[in-house]
Amino acid sequence: MKNRIFFKLLAVFLIVIAATAAILDVMLGSAWEASLLTEIERNLTQKTLLFAHRVETDRAHSLNEIAAQEGLAAGARATIIDASGKVLADSESNPSNMENHATRKEFAAALAGQTGENVRRSDTLGIPFLYVAAPVSGGAVRLAYPLSDVEAVQSQVHRRLLWGSSVALIIALIIAASASVWTSRRLERIVDVAVRIERGDLQARVQDRPIDEIGRVAAAIDRTAGQVERSFAAVRSSQRQLETLLNSMQDAVIAISSDGLVQWANQAMDRLVPQRTRLNAPVVETIRDPDFLAAVKAATATKQVKTTRATSIVSGRAFDVTAAPLPDGGAVAVLRDLTETERVEKTRRDFIANVSHELRTPLTSIQGYSETLLDSADNLGSNREFLEIIRKNAARMARLTEDLLTLARVESGETRFDTEPVPPIELLHDAEESFREIARSQGVELKIIETSEKNTSVESLPAVRADREAIHQVFSNLIDNAMKYGRSGGRIVLGARPAVRGVEFFVQDFGAGIASEHLPRLFERFYRVDKARSRESGGTGLGLAIAKHIMLAHGGSIRAESELNHGSTFAFTLPAA
Ligand code: ADP
Repeated sequence: MKNRIFFKLLAVFLIVIAATAAILDVMLGSAWEASLLTEIERNLTQKTLLFAHRVETDRAHSLNEIAAQEGLAAGARATIIDASGKVLADSESNPSNMENHATRKEFAAALAGQTGENVRRSDTLGIPFLYVAAPVSGGAVRLAYPLSDVEAVQSQVHRRLLWGSSVALIIALIIAASASVWTSRRLERIVDVAVRIERGDLQARVQDRPIDEIGRVAAAIDRTAGQVERSFAAVRSSQRQLETLLNSMQDAVIAISSDGLVQWANQAMDRLVPQRTRLNAPVVETIRDPDFLAAVKAATATKQVKTTRATSIVSGRAFDVTAAPLPDGGAVAVLRDLTETERVEKTRRDFIANVSHELRTPLTSIQGYSETLLDSADNLGSNREFLEIIRKNAARMARLTEDLLTLARVESGETRFDTEPVPPIELLHDAEESFREIARSQGVELKIIETSEKNTSVESLPAVRADREAIHQVFSNLIDNAMKYGRSGGRIVLGARPAVRGVEFFVQDFGAGIASEHLPRLFERFYRVDKARSRESGGTGLGLAIAKHIMLAHGGSIRAESELNHGSTFAFTLPAA
């Protein structure tokens, strides 16, 4: 780089020096020549006039003597002619050998009475001469001065200019060399700093003075480096904060690139796997659970959050895995250890199941005895009322324990569901048959809608995978509710329609309906919109929770739609067989 700058500068200097020298040569040379010629001309004209005067007045010398003396004095050739042009005397030749000079331009002018001048190359000597002629009575005189001096002057000018140019060239060489060394040193420092920044040394600075473009470039690089250093420090700081936060979490977190390599893992993740996570190693080497790997892959591919349960990451422990896609490909997975939660949950379920189970016998006994007493004794008086209250509450407690036991068994997976392909119409008929009489006795019309809104008949719907008894229980809970809370409508409609992944069944009533704020919590256990009403009608608050868990066990779902005073629709979807 240094040499390139040097040669470029030198080339520029050379062009400038050569152009200046050529222009000076032409302009100075011609100016000098012109002024010299004018000077010689003036001088020669004066000498010619003096020569003419002497020819007129000097009677003491012959014409030949005068010509010789004047020629010598003027350093020129002196010639005298008569009016016809015949040479009378000449300082350098024999006049008799000379031709007639009347036609020579300067003589022609002199013979006409004026001073004549001419510059031309001499035939005899071959060099240029300046000729000046002046008239004398009966002829003319002439001085011829050789112009070879002028040419000598010109070549002197050339030589001096050449010298001057050479000296200028040497100075240019020195200037170009030192300028190129100075410039290239500054540029090299800029390159050096740029390379250091590229390698991560963000504190590197050029620190040049901004006196010219290079200085301004250096200042811009320094400013950029400062900006990058500050941004980098901010990023590092927030990264450290994030790392601290993630490391202080109980949940294990692992980031995986789009090609399945471990990018980052928190300390909880390191503690989880015995061999610690290895960065940039395939994630399958760290976590071999197929459910976990599938969730990560799905999150990466679909760019959607995926959740799953993984049980083979650490033997005997279950994890809730949430895999979220990262913006630049890959995914980050959070693993929550469910073992303890599930253990507590199981203990709770077992406890409820045990308590319910243990209460069954004494409750049956209380119920039995209170009924026997009510049936056997006639004159009970006000005791009948007390006995009736005991019987009613015992029955309610029995229903509660029964529902609690059912829910605990369904939730824990203890209840086995024997699913089989069942045509939807059969499930609807089963439900309708068992409630037909009860409904009629309560003045409620219960009927199945055979054709759905899109004109598909229920008969033609595909079979669903269901446990008949369990689905019957769901229908029972829903129809029971419809009768309890929707009785004012006097009508209950059952039906089925095609859904995205199976068939959706529904139970619709035209009663009081449910305010929208209650809908999201309706399927929670013991959630009741109107506690007193539920209790009065023998409700336990567990019917919908049981229905929900039966649906979950079937791989289906359940939902409620309702509007106050416009009835409610409870719909559940069963997967196609
Ligand atoms: P419960 O034993 O109290 O009926 P459920 O779990 O079956 O318990 O129902 C929860 C609550 O949802 C009920 O208490 C009731 O307030 C409301 N609900 C259920 N079905 C209907 C319906 N068809 N119309 C209006 N409210 C209903």
